[in-house]
Amino acid sequence: MSCGQIHAWNILDRKPVLAKWEERRFTEITATEKPPAGNQWIGPPLLDLQVNGYAGIDFQQDDLTEADLLHAVEQLGQACCDRILLTLVTDDWEAMTRRLAKARQLREAHPALGQAIAGWHIEGPFLSPEAGYCGAHSPDKMLRPTPERIAELRSLTGDDPLLLTMAPEIDGGLAGFAAARERGIRVSIGHTNAPAHILRRVTAGGSVGFTHLGNGCPATLDRTDNIVWRALDTPGLTCGLIPDRWHVSPTLFRLIHRLVEPDSFYYTTDAMAAAGAPPGKYRLGELELEVGPEQIVRLPGTPNLAGSALTPIDGIRRAAEMLDTDWQNVWPKFSQAPARFMGLPEAFTIGAPATFALIETDPANRIVKHSIQTAA
Ligand SMILES: [Zn+2]
Repeated sequence: MSCGQIHAWNILDRKPVLAKWEERRFTEITATEKPPAGNQWIGPPLLDLQVNGYAGIDFQQDDLTEADLLHAVEQLGQACCDRILLTLVTDDWEAMTRRLAKARQLREAHPALGQAIAGWHIEGPFLSPEAGYCGAHSPDKMLRPTPERIAELRSLTGDDPLLLTMAPEIDGGLAGFAAARERGIRVSIGHTNAPAHILRRVTAGGSVGFTHLGNGCPATLDRTDNIVWRALDTPGLTCGLIPDRWHVSPTLFRLIHRLVEPDSFYYTTDAMAAAGAPPGKYRLGELELEVGPEQIVRLPGTPNLAGSALTPIDGIRRAAEMLDTDWQNVWPKFSQAPARFMGLPEAFTIGAPATFALIETDPANRIVKHSIQTAA
C-alpha cells in the first residue's frame, strides 16, 4: 500500500502539521505540538480561474496540441499552480467553439490534463463593445448571449465546471445570465459599463463573480461614478483581482482588501502565453502583443493591457508585498477562495488527492524554494 507523511508548517494556519496519506489521498491533517525541524510549509496548491495561455503556449490557437497543453500545465506546476480554468476569449463564434471542443478532447484524452484543467472560462463574446470596456477584445465580434449560444457552450463542455464572463447591460444580457444559471454555468460580470441597478439585478439572481475588477475598463474614469465604484458598492459580488501591481494599483489593491468582505474576492493571473516565458512578442488569438522587461503585456502602440505575464507564485509574492504582509496570509486567496467561488473541491483536505504545495523559506520568511508534491 502506498502511504506516506510529512511534518511541516501549515500555510493556512501557520501551525505545525502532520499530514498523512494512503493510496494517494490525505487520511490525516493534524496540528502537532512539536514544531517541524526545518522551514518547510505545506498547503493547497494554487488554483487559477483565468489562464489564456502559459509558457509560450497560446490556448487560443487553432492547432493546439496535447504536447502544448502538457508543457503549459507542467510549467504552471513549477509556479505552484496545479489547477486552472482554461480560458478562451472573444473571437468568431465558430472559431471559439471549435477551439473549446478541441481543448476538451485533448483534456479527456490525457489524465494529467484532466486533473490540471479543472474546467473552462469563456470570456466573450457577450461583452460590452464600448471603447475601453471591451479591453483587447474585438468590439465587432461581440454577440448577444442567446439561449441557443449558451446551450451550445453547455453542451460542448458537458458537466465540466464552466465559468462565463458577460456584460449584463448588452442586448439580451440579463436573459443571458438567467439562461447560463439555469444550465449550471457559473457567471461573472466583466468588460462592462453596467449601471448600478443592472448590477444589482444580476446579484439578485444568485451568486455572481466580477472578472478582474479594475480592468476591462478605460484607463481614465469619471471620479464620481464609474464601474469600479459601482462594483465595489454592489453587495454579493465575488471579485477576481490580478495581483501584478499593473492591473490593479497597489493603492486600490490595499483599499479592496480593507473594504471588501474577505470571502468576496480571489486572485487570478489572467495569464497569457508570455507568463513563465521571457520578454518578447506573443500571440493571444489574433492579437500580437508585446511584453517588455517589466513583464507588462500591451497591445503594441497603446496603453491597453491584454492579459498578464504574471506567474501564480509571483502573484502570491506581489500580493504580499503590496499589502506589506506575510505570503502565508494571502495564500488562501489564490487557492481556497477560487475553489469556493467555482464550487470546486478544496485541496489539502482529508480525502482530497495527496497533492500539496511545498514551500521553503529563509529566516526572513521569504519564499526561496517552491514546488508541488504528489504522493507516489
Ligand atoms: Zn478580460
